Amino acid sequence: MFRYLKEQVAGIISDGTLRDFCRQSASGLAWLEDQGVRFSSRMMTGKNSFPGGAWGLYFSGNEANAPYSDRAVPAPRGHIVQARGYATGHGLMKALIGTIGRRLRGRVAVVDHCEVFQLLVDARGTILGLRCRRVKSRIARGLCRFVNRIANGFMMGMPGTGSAIRRLARHFSGRREVMAVRAGRGVVLATGGFVFNRPMVEAATRGRVYSPMPLGEECHGSGIALGQSVGGTVDRMDRLTYWRFFAPPVHFLHAILVGPDGGRICNEALYGATVADRMIERSGGRGWLILDHATLQEVRADLRKRMPVVQKILGWLYLNRCRTSAPDLAALADRLDIDPTALAGTVADYNHRIEAGRGDEFGKSAAYRSVLAVGPWHAVDVSIGAPGNPCFSLTLGGLRVEEASGQVLGESGVIRGLYAAGRSAVGICSHTYISGLSLADCVFSGRRAGRHAAQQ
Ligand SMILES: Cc1cc2nc3c(=O)[nH]c(=O)nc-3n(C[C@H](O)[C@H](O)[C@H](O)COP(=O)(O)OP(=O)(O)OC[C@H]3O[C@@H](n4cnc5c(N)ncnc54)[C@H](O)[C@@H]3O)c2cc1C
Repeated sequence: MFRYLKEQVAGIISDGTLRDFCRQSASGLAWLEDQGVRFSSRMMTGKNSFPGGAWGLYFSGNEANAPYSDRAVPAPRGHIVQARGYATGHGLMKALIGTIGRRLRGRVAVVDHCEVFQLLVDARGTILGLRCRRVKSRIARGLCRFVNRIANGFMMGMPGTGSAIRRLARHFSGRREVMAVRAGRGVVLATGGFVFNRPMVEAATRGRVYSPMPLGEECHGSGIALGQSVGGTVDRMDRLTYWRFFAPPVHFLHAILVGPDGGRICNEALYGATVADRMIERSGGRGWLILDHATLQEVRADLRKRMPVVQKILGWLYLNRCRTSAPDLAALADRLDIDPTALAGTVADYNHRIEAGRGDEFGKSAAYRSVLAVGPWHAVDVSIGAPGNPCFSLTLGGLRVEEASGQVLGESGVIRGLYAAGRSAVGICSHTYISGLSLADCVFSGRRAGRHAAQQ
């Protein structure tokens, strides 16, 4: 696990902390089970971006693909929470919130519909507490909860509409009371990232935003800004993860991914966010899957099989809103404004290696390689900002923290009493996201901060 993650983490945290993370992964899972989160060992062995709640365990990142599989023995470590439906994260939250309501009743006060807007510090910079605004009436809080639930349904796919409905909820929330809260042991910022704060994203990336589609619900960066307001420093703010998943349908993996120069970009079977990273590094975020007609027919056949509705919709979008077709390769290159000679050379080299029994240029598994030869030819636009189907994105950077305690780091050391966890902080997934690594980091960094604060 350490050897595989070291490749993904790219030095963003120390080896010692990464080892701790790996060592604690089994006990962290047991801790979650103890809170009532349910897991299963029903394992999916094939390639799948997210198989859904019917499965328990899968290869959730790049572990089964070259070059990662050459450096560490692949193991499926993606644990899917068992709960109703396809996307089962609600089961995780329900169990954790349940713990607060049941086991910790009377010991933990929950103040909901309450926005923290200021941190309070003493003259030496130690955190004393915070100030927040709470929706005052119980009826207004109920109304907000109801409207926000509707908004959440729109956040994936129609974030503009979702945000507008949220603003409506704010509008009807009535009077707010301002409260000051004294922190006995510390304040842990666990307020998520900032992908919904467009000016903040633009500033962090110097305008290099490849897709207009944010992913999540309430990530406005307010916690990161609170940390900065008391001297906290940030890192990796320019790192966004873009999700370009196209399998299933699994036959998309038999296509080749090329950039505007007609050259191949990477192993098409890599994890979706890694494919997007490679497109950014090599071709300015642009790329097309090139398929011959036989492969397209296989993709269509895949889509007729049983699979989660979300994946069927995505497959349909790729085929019907992102596809360009032409009778031959030269005409296809012409339509895409790609160098025709380079594209022909790339396809010929790909086929030649298969026919000669040689390995793939990027180490793609034989299971996903077949000769591309029979026209008409098709190109599916999988560019990060593809108009018919732009990638979702999340921010990965945040407040710098001391790795041993999770306390926020200022210019000259820790800010005593201030912690950051999850996507408000720099963590294990701040360089590259693979499925599971963010939530696993939330559990790891949240418990680390809580444990340290409790000892103060
Ligand atoms: C559709 C989808 C699928 C995903 N799938 C996976 C997956 O398979 N594996 C994985 O690892 N990750 C996945 N992620 C990413 C993962 O869910 C997030 O990275 C993770 O939830 C971040 O947790 P967090 O606690 O840091 O922040 P959040 O979950 O964003 O929670 C932050 C909370 O803080 C509140 N808040 C913000 N500002 C304030 C303030 N000023 N005062 C008070 N409260 C505030 C917000 O309302 C919110 O409730 C997925 C995300 C999405 C959207």
